[in-house]
Amino acid sequence: MKDLIYIVLVFMLLSCSVKIENNDLINDNPFILVLGNAQDAGYPQIACTKECCQRVNDDPAHKRLVSSIALIDPISNESWIFDATPDFTEQTNILSKHLQNNKQLPDGIFLSHGHIGHYTGLMFLGREALGANNMPVYAMPRMYDYLSENGPWDQLVDLKNIRLKALRKDSTMVLNQRLSVSPIEVPHRDEYSETVGYLIKNMDKKIIFIPDIDKWSKWDRNIVDYIKSVDIALLDATFFKNDEIERDMNEVPHPYVEESMELFKDLSEQDKQKVYFIHFNHTNPLLIDDSDAQKKVLKNGFKIARQGNTINF
Ligand SMILES: [Zn+2]
Ligand SMILES: [Zn+2]
Ligand SMILES: [Zn+2]
Repeated sequence: MKDLIYIVLVFMLLSCSVKIENNDLINDNPFILVLGNAQDAGYPQIACTKECCQRVNDDPAHKRLVSSIALIDPISNESWIFDATPDFTEQTNILSKHLQNNKQLPDGIFLSHGHIGHYTGLMFLGREALGANNMPVYAMPRMYDYLSENGPWDQLVDLKNIRLKALRKDSTMVLNQRLSVSPIEVPHRDEYSETVGYLIKNMDKKIIFIPDIDKWSKWDRNIVDYIKSVDIALLDATFFKNDEIERDMNEVPHPYVEESMELFKDLSEQDKQKVYFIHFNHTNPLLIDDSDAQKKVLKNGFKIARQGNTINF
């Protein structure tokens, strides 16, 4: 028995020193990894026979995963995913390549709202898939209740595959010594939950991530002031312009990229460079590399969130 305690102690000491060594070696700043940039339905979209999605059939390299980002802290080897999309399996795999020690999963998941592209990836944590053990899932009050009270999601809670953590609007969730996250409520079609964007802080550096919002003018805050006050702004760019889809676009309001660029046009060149457009509908030409739309965005001084890219802040 004494021997066993001795072995355990030696092992603990060894693993401690390995950890410290790694920490010394990896002294990087936290960064953002773009895990996907498509709207909820992904790219290509189901049953779309038009040119926008046929080009993916012709060349699968054009496929894009649903909008999601990861926050990675290389020093602590921790990470957090913002939104669990239907592409969650592939996205955790992309994330794992940026983690040490063969780590395969994030340390927590922040949910923005109850539309299909933003939470249904939680299903892969359940009994039919990973059977995760208490994965922390951060959610606002209505989203929290929705997951707790409705099948199949309540089974994830009952089986302790996920551990729900309650967020309050504008509250600050401290993740570690350097990183914290605050949910910022935004206007959106809130059928099942409220909708939030996230303000991510790394000491005095800040990122705002707003994948879905109805229109900038419906918000009680000023997006232009927000862009000035942060270092990076990843913003809803679902549609490039009006009449992009045949449906009544008032049913699915979003700021058109053309509207956003007009609204942001008086920002300094430096502030414009903070803006990354994300969350593209399958009809949005920003999904097509070197399209006229992409060239226009870049020429106007803004950026495009590209899947697999890292963003330092
Ligand atoms: Zn969405
Ligand atoms: Zn399409
Ligand atoms: Zn939505």
